[in-house]
Amino acid sequence: MALYKAVKYIHTEYANHQTKFIILSDSLSNLIAITSTRNQPDITKLIQEESLLAEKKNKHIHFVWIPGHIGIPGNEMADQEAHNAIASTSTVIINSITFTDAKNEIISHLYNKWHSHWRKLNTKLNKIKNNINPWKNPELNRKEETIINHLRIGHTHLMHSYLMSKDEPPLCDSCSVLLTVNHIITECNKYNQYRNQFHISEQICQALGPNPQDEKNLMLFLKKTELYNLI
Ligand SMILES: [Zn+2]
Repeated sequence: MALYKAVKYIHTEYANHQTKFIILSDSLSNLIAITSTRNQPDITKLIQEESLLAEKKNKHIHFVWIPGHIGIPGNEMADQEAHNAIASTSTVIINSITFTDAKNEIISHLYNKWHSHWRKLNTKLNKIKNNINPWKNPELNRKEETIINHLRIGHTHLMHSYLMSKDEPPLCDSCSVLLTVNHIITECNKYNQYRNQFHISEQICQALGPNPQDEKNLMLFLKKTELYNLI
């Protein structure tokens, strides 16, 4: 802010015949920021704009870094003014975050909003996947990916082909209950042996979760139970 005020003062208050100015500052980070053109805070942009306007009026400003205030007349006064400004309610607050920071803040806000909306939905998929992070299945081939996606959204040929043939929804031929993804993966007694053999979790969200080893085991389970080509 002090740099901005100094540049603006030179630009607007000094008579035009004065052409050379030196601004001394102990803030190395601010001086470096002024020389950059990327991701500066708004205050740095304002300093650059004022410097440019001053330059157009033939007022050349040089910035010099001084390591600390000591021994330079007027600095005690400048320090005191700075302290007064911090305490004053009439001090204008200028945005000191970068555009990149602001963009990241907006992305994070939208992500949280989307996430909380996702968690409130009542779909089969969001019972298994309770977040919006992408799930990659690097260990699975294309067919296996299709199978696991069908299971996760709860729509499979085995359970839903009746919609096309206009039959009744199918029942499990062993347990006589409605055939569902949850039933075949976690409940059906017919598959207990293979469920144990391939360590399929009793929790559907884990059995169909993104863990690569769980996904591999699930495929082995589906092959052994001959469900693989029915999903
Ligand atoms: Zn069953």
